[in-house]
Amino acid sequence: MKKPVIAIDGFSSTGKSSISKIIAQKLNLVHLDTGALYRGVTWFALQNCCKEDGTVDVNNLFKNFDHIHLEFKSIENEMVLFLNEINITKEIRSNEVSENVSNVAKQPEVRYFLLGYQRKLAEKGGIIMDGRDIGTVVLPNADFKFFLTASLEERTRRRYQELLGLGIATDEKQVAENLAERDRIDSEREVAPLRQADDAIVIDNTEMTKKETIEAILNYVNNF
Ligand code: C5P
Repeated sequence: MKKPVIAIDGFSSTGKSSISKIIAQKLNLVHLDTGALYRGVTWFALQNCCKEDGTVDVNNLFKNFDHIHLEFKSIENEMVLFLNEINITKEIRSNEVSENVSNVAKQPEVRYFLLGYQRKLAEKGGIIMDGRDIGTVVLPNADFKFFLTASLEERTRRRYQELLGLGIATDEKQVAENLAERDRIDSEREVAPLRQADDAIVIDNTEMTKKETIEAILNYVNNF
C-alpha cells in the first residue's frame, strides 16, 4: 500500500514537530524535523565560523559545507540529530542557536545545501516533513499540505514550557521576542520564505490541544 507524503509548515512553536512525530508513529511514516537541520548548521557555524563580535561569518560557513555531516539516527524511537557523529540534540535548542538560526537559514547557499538531503528522504514516500517551505519548495507535490498557525501569546507559552522542560534558562519576554523576530525574518527572506502553499489546509490551533490538532490532520489523511 502506498504511504503518503505529508508537508507540515507554519509559524514557530505551533507544535509542528511534536505533532508530526506522533502522526509518524500512528501512520508508520518517517518523520523529518527540517528545523533541526537548520539549527544543526547554525550550531556548527557558531562553533567554527564566527566573526570577532560573535556573529556568524556566513562566507566562512559556505566554505565549510564539506565539513558538515548531519544525520538523523533512530535511538529508542526518537530521531536524534548528529553533527559529525556527535549528538547535538540539546545544543540545537539553546538560546544562542535560536537567536542566530533565521539569519543562517535565509542564506540561499544554506537552503540549497540542505535541499537535496530533504528531497532524497522523501523519494520513497511514507514521510511527514515539517518546516517552513516544505509544501511550497521542498515537496511541492506532497499528497497533503498543512499550515499551522496560533496566536503569539499561545506560542510563547508553549515554547517557554518546552524550554523549561529542557532545563534551558530563559524568560517569557525573550521567548516572545525571539519567536516574533524569527517569524519576521523567515517570512521576509527572498528565497523560500515562510508562506502558506495555495493548496495547504490551514489549521489555527490557538484554542486546540495537541491531540485535537493531530485528530484534525488525521481526519484528512485517513482518507488517503
Ligand atoms: O522549526 P524550528 O523552529 O526549529 O526552526 C528553526 C528555524 O529554522 C526557523 O525559524 C527558520 O529560520 C529555519 N527553518 C527554515 N526552513 C525550514 C525549517 C526551519 O528556514 N524548512
